[in-house]
Order: sequence, then structure tokens, then C-alpha cells
Amino acid sequence: MISFARRRMDRSLPPLLRHAAVIFLRIYYNMSSCIFCKIINNEANATIVFRDDQVTAFRDSRPAAPTHILIVPNKHIESVNSLTSEDEALVGHLFVVARQLSTEEGIAESGYRLITNTGVNGGQTIFHLHLHLLGGARMKYPMG
Ligand code: AMP
Ligand code: ZN
Repeated sequence: MISFARRRMDRSLPPLLRHAAVIFLRIYYNMSSCIFCKIINNEANATIVFRDDQVTAFRDSRPAAPTHILIVPNKHIESVNSLTSEDEALVGHLFVVARQLSTEEGIAESGYRLITNTGVNGGQTIFHLHLHLLGGARMKYPMG
């Protein structure tokens, strides 16, 4: 879809406008095909445990621990690599929601692990930023 639109634009737009259009198309395509955006927009099913105007949290469909919740910004951000200084408050909010959910899940005292995988070597499989909240059992160590 992107390459078709890109070929058409190559003929008709000046370079700077073409560059901006390609970026817009890429963001639009990623958002419209992103499973986490679909969950946030109620277009795909998930067990949602928390929602506000900035973040949505839902249970991982393949839990790796008794408690395994994903805390996700409502805005489509691909990964930590895409964060800007404008996102600082949002990232802080992800952690505050994680802390709140750890109490609700009864794992605050026993402890838990927060993970954000980034890129291929980091093991990221869904390219919409998320925090894994894992607990309810002793986590494996060492990591990596
Ligand atoms: P990561 O590998 O860090 O990108 O984590 C992606 C996580 O999303 C994995 O733990 C998956 O099990 C989980 N996941 C993928 N699709 C869904 C879905 N539709 N609902 C809930 N969790 C999902
Ligand atoms: Zn998304």
C-alpha cells in the first residue's frame, strides 16, 4: 500500500512534501494495522483492567507469570526509540499506573518485574510501546 502510494507521489510532489507525506502514510499504516491500537479503540478483544485518557492496561494473551499485564500509551508510539521529551509525563504515568495495578493485583509487597522490550535484539514483537507488569511468582535471574 505504501509503495503504491509512494510511486504515485514520486511523480507529483516536491521532495520535502513527498518526505512529509511518506512519514504521514507510514504512521497511518502502522496505526491502522496495530493490534494494540485496535484494543485501545475497542476494535479487538482484550481483558482491560485499567483505562484513562493517556493509557490502557490489559492482560497479556500469553501470560508468562500469574499476573501479566501490558500497560500501553493510548497514543501510537513504536518503541522507546521513538520517544521524545514531550513524552516524559506519559512515560512517568505508565509507571504510576503500573504501581497502582501492582497493588490491585496483590503483588506490590511480594514484588514484580517491569519490562519494556525494544527492537529485535530486545525481543519486541509488537511495535507499540508497552510496559510488561509481571508478578505473582519469583522471576528468573539473571536476565538476558
Ligand atoms: P513484546 O514481545 O515485548 O513486544 O510483547 C508483546 C506482548 O503482547 C506479548 O507478551 C504477547 O503475548 C502480547 N500480545 C500479543 N497480542 C496480544 C493481544 N491481542 N492481546 C493481549 N496480548 C497480546
Ligand atoms: Zn499502535
